[in-house]
Amino acid sequence: MRQAVILVGGKGTRLGGLTRNTPKPLLQIDGDRRFLDYLLTNVARHGISEILLIAGHLGDQVQQRYDGQRIGECEIIVVREPEPAGTGGALVHVRDRLDPVFLMLNGDSFFDFNYLALTSVLRPGDLGALALRWVGDARRYGATEQRDGRILSFREKDETLADGAWISGGVYLLRRSVLDYLGPLPCSIESDVFLQAAAAGRLGCATFEGYFLDIGLPETLQQGRDELPRVTRRPAVLLDRDSTLNVDTGYTHRIQDLRWTPGAVAAVRAINDAGWLALVVTNQSGIARGLYTEDQMRAFHAHMQRELAAAGAHIDGFYHCPFHPEAIVDTYRDADHPWRKPNPGMLRVALSDWQADTARSVMIGDQDSDIEAAKAAGVRGVKYEGGALDVLVRAAIAGA
Ligand SMILES: [Mg+2]
Repeated sequence: MRQAVILVGGKGTRLGGLTRNTPKPLLQIDGDRRFLDYLLTNVARHGISEILLIAGHLGDQVQQRYDGQRIGECEIIVVREPEPAGTGGALVHVRDRLDPVFLMLNGDSFFDFNYLALTSVLRPGDLGALALRWVGDARRYGATEQRDGRILSFREKDETLADGAWISGGVYLLRRSVLDYLGPLPCSIESDVFLQAAAAGRLGCATFEGYFLDIGLPETLQQGRDELPRVTRRPAVLLDRDSTLNVDTGYTHRIQDLRWTPGAVAAVRAINDAGWLALVVTNQSGIARGLYTEDQMRAFHAHMQRELAAAGAHIDGFYHCPFHPEAIVDTYRDADHPWRKPNPGMLRVALSDWQADTARSVMIGDQDSDIEAAKAAGVRGVKYEGGALDVLVRAAIAGA
C-alpha cells in the first residue's frame, strides 16, 4: 500500500459558523495543529509514500498549507475539485493518479488502528474493504450488517440504532476498479459502489477497537481538542536491529541476506496493532568501516519495510549511527559519538521526533549496550536472548 487519498472537500454545515471561513479538516485542535495534521501524521507513519488530498470547499487554504509538503518520506499532493461532485466525483477527478489499490480516508474523522491490517481483508474479487467500529449510539451514522468478514448490507440512520451498531469508520482500502461502477457526476461511492458490492459479496470488512472520533458536530470537535493530543502521544518500542530483528550475518546490508529472527515480523505487527510506535535504533559501524554506504543500508531498510508490509506491519522510523572511533571513512570517525549505543543520543532523538510517551516506552535489544542506552535515555530495557521475539514484545507492551 503506497498511496492514500483523503477527502477534505466537505462543507461541514453542521458546524455552523466554524466552517464558514475554514475547511472542516483545517479546524484548530491544539496550538497550531489542525485536525488534518493529526490525520496526515498517522497515515504517513504507516509507510505510505504519497497522500492525495482532494480539496473542495475553501480548497485554496488546503493547497497553501499542504501542497508539496513532506512528512518524512511521504509526499503530500493537493488536488482541487472544480465543483462538489460527491465522494465518487472526488475519486473520478484523480482517476489518472490512482494506484491499483489505495487507502481512502474521510478527512473529518479519526479512526486509530493499524491501517495495513486491511490488506489481508481484501480478497481477490473484492472492490474494497471497510474498517468497522462499534459505537454505542449509531443514530448519527447509519450502520452495517456484517458476517464473517463480509459486509451484507447497510442501514440508514434511524432511531433504532440508539442501542449501538457497527458503523463504517471512514477508512477504506479500495481497488481503482471501483471507478467502473460510478454513475454520472455527482455520485457517491457509498450508494453507487458499496451497496452493489455488498450485495454481490465483494465488500470485505474487519472490526477494530481503536479510538474513533468524527468532528462533524461542535461538541465532537471540542472532544477532539480535549482528546487528540493525548491519544496520539504513543509509547514506543525501540528495537535494536542486528540479532534482534534480523539474523546478524556480520555487517548485514545486502537484501538477499535478510533473515528475520523467530517471531520478528509478528513482533512488529503486534506493536502496530497495539497502537505503539515501532522505532529501529541501530549502530551501523559497517558504514564507518567502509563496508557499505548509507544508501545501501537504506535499501536494506526499504526491503525490510516491503516484507513487513506483506504481513500488515511497518516500522515507523529507522535511526542509525554510522560513527565509530576506528572509522576508515573520515567523515564517520568519532571517538565517542552521542548516538552510538550505549550512549542514549539516538534513542532520545527517536523518542523526541515522535513525541513518544517515554514513561511507557521500552527498548529491546540483544546487547548490554542496548540496555545501558535504554537506562541512560530513561526507558525500560529488555534483553532479547533468542527465541520468539513476538512473545517478548507482547509481554513488554502488556507490562507498561
Ligand atoms: Mg544487536
